[in-house]
Amino acid sequence: MRPDTEWVRFDSAPQDRFRPTAPPIYQTSTFRQPSAVEHGEFDYTRSGNPTRRLLEQQLARLERGARAMAFSSGMAAIAAALSLVKSGDEIWAGSDIYGGTYRLLTQIVSPQGIPVHFVDTTDLDEVARRLEKPPRLVLVETPTNPRLRITDIEALAALVHDRRGLLAVDNSLLSPYLQQPLELGADLVIHSATKFLCGHSDVTAGVVVARQERLADPIAYYQNAAGTGLAPFEAWLLLRGMKTLAIRMDRQQSNAQRLARFLFEDSRIRRVYYPGIADHPGRSIHRRQARGNGGVLCFETGSVDFSRRLVEATRLFDITVSFGGVASSISLPAFMSHASIPSEIRERRQLPEDLVRVSAGIEHPDDLIDDLRQALHIAETETPTGGERPCRQHAYSHGK
Ligand SMILES: *Cc1c(COP(=O)(O)O)cnc(C)c1O
Repeated sequence: MRPDTEWVRFDSAPQDRFRPTAPPIYQTSTFRQPSAVEHGEFDYTRSGNPTRRLLEQQLARLERGARAMAFSSGMAAIAAALSLVKSGDEIWAGSDIYGGTYRLLTQIVSPQGIPVHFVDTTDLDEVARRLEKPPRLVLVETPTNPRLRITDIEALAALVHDRRGLLAVDNSLLSPYLQQPLELGADLVIHSATKFLCGHSDVTAGVVVARQERLADPIAYYQNAAGTGLAPFEAWLLLRGMKTLAIRMDRQQSNAQRLARFLFEDSRIRRVYYPGIADHPGRSIHRRQARGNGGVLCFETGSVDFSRRLVEATRLFDITVSFGGVASSISLPAFMSHASIPSEIRERRQLPEDLVRVSAGIEHPDDLIDDLRQALHIAETETPTGGERPCRQHAYSHGK
């Protein structure tokens, strides 16, 4: 089956005698057992639920993994993957990484005595040099959120495997429709399913897909032990949303491409980051390992004040922290999704305060461009010339 087909065609109720087209929701916490000493297929929803299992089977199929585990959020999925790392081991994470992942690694995992190092995985020579003490787990995003920096998954997997480590790729930004890291050698794929997989901004969910059963077993064990598995109704909503992912993603990325080009050609915009732009760093690697550029882009204006006015003057873009939904959104990552990264470190990682992130929805592209055009005009006429006024950080700060 071609990708578009496999996202929509799957058996939604393999054993149901009524043969429904949509999967049933098993909204139950417990299951009656055959007797006091025998176990049925399911006993308790924390440990397993047919609706969640259907979702997990579909996700494993789409990511080409042995097994998938669905969690209550992307962060819960990342925590489950990190549970593979025991004391005495180390974790390496890409230096441009989602703010919540950074917070989990630095505030929860590292204080537990597991050393965490951040490395620029776009530079593999540097990685090879530093890989002397091999880490147990290397966690990267590619493209990264929000800077869209590219890491060569196949080459990094080879380096990490040489040192007997595991490579986990956070694939939230593209989805398996556009990139399948397990096929490139990664051991685990992680998703914030809250983003593109759901697509409708109405579910918080996360996924870990393991290439081999050997790695899936301890993660499934953790899912039950820690009790962070996804609830049946959320699993059902996700199954529903995923059926339209292929057409949503096609439209979102063609809209993103149009917006990137429009911004690239506007003299008021200093830099645009999008893998679909000719001079985007790592573009050739990206084209080799992914089938598309995705629906997220970002840009710098050179002025925090200008960026803030621009964001607030848009009418068709929701100011929200998330991305991947059918409705376009816009944000200032340094004050919103990535506020949990300390400002000195944000600066070192080139996450400037004037950076604007856009998630293209499925609206008509001309409406989105008209809206950006009018917002640029307002930002330009209202921003005092030469006045670099600091943004009011408290107005936006989120998640500490
Ligand atoms: C949002 C996000 C997460 C966290 O997922 P939640 O569902 O919000 O817990 C992890 N990684 C990336 C790349 C994200 O964008």
